[in-house]
Amino acid sequence: MKCMICKHGETTKGTTTVTLEKDNSTIVFKEVPAHICDNCGETYIDDTVTKALLNKAREIVKNGVEVDIRKFELAA
Ligand SMILES: [Zn+2]
Repeated sequence: MKCMICKHGETTKGTTTVTLEKDNSTIVFKEVPAHICDNCGETYIDDTVTKALLNKAREIVKNGVEVDIRKFELAA
């Protein structure tokens, strides 16, 4: 798809690192599937992936973890 930020680039499939901060917790997900602009580097993450990230983050925060770095797995 066309990039909405720079309006010139095309997005390609790749992975990115997403950092979420909630309350006192910092959660880093690596290898998150995303569409990445080949021009400006903007990343777009699908709704289903975003929802999964937020659900996992909520679980981690609930367990009282302050820093968590993990590989993202959609089916887990
Ligand atoms: Zn772009």
